[in-house]
Amino acid sequence: MGGMKPSILLQPLGDVDKNLLYDTCRRLQRIIDVNVDVSDIYIEIPEEAFDNLRGQYLSTTILHHLKIWSVKLPYDKIVGISNVDAYTNGLNFVFGEAELGGRVAVVYLARLRPEFYGGEPNYELFVTRCLKEILHELGHTFGLLHCRNRRCVMTFSNSIYDTDYKEANYCRNCSAYLLRNGVRVLNPL
Ligand SMILES: [Zn+2]
Ligand SMILES: [Zn+2]
Repeated sequence: MGGMKPSILLQPLGDVDKNLLYDTCRRLQRIIDVNVDVSDIYIEIPEEAFDNLRGQYLSTTILHHLKIWSVKLPYDKIVGISNVDAYTNGLNFVFGEAELGGRVAVVYLARLRPEFYGGEPNYELFVTRCLKEILHELGHTFGLLHCRNRRCVMTFSNSIYDTDYKEANYCRNCSAYLLRNGVRVLNPL
């Protein structure tokens, strides 16, 4: 802290569209006052995270793998981005998962694409959803819990409708919390 902007790395897990990562990176820096880099290498998703019966990956294993892998990287927060579909124990699927008050988070793209729901491809909508989920998981890494304001990006998304309803921004309460933890929200809701 002390005037230092937090540094964030967007880390592809498996091969992820570079344009998406760069577009998300630029937009992120218009919402919060942070330095964001996109990693130019990608790391493999651990195969032991795959559940054959469900056809999905266990997010907890992926998050742990990223945590170990990134331990020496010079960033405050590491956000893994993956194309796969993932779940955690107790949830049929997750859009993402984060270490609360920790250093790592992961966002899963599979259910953010309009095609997943039978819609036409829509890059703008896809990038916006991706941005929202990254802001949400980053919020958790800075210690934020879920917010009751359904327009706030920290509201829990039960479905893609919740994700589309919320803004790619933090409410005043969440922004005030973030500021106390070293992150300035440029233009809170
Ligand atoms: Zn959450
Ligand atoms: Zn909020």
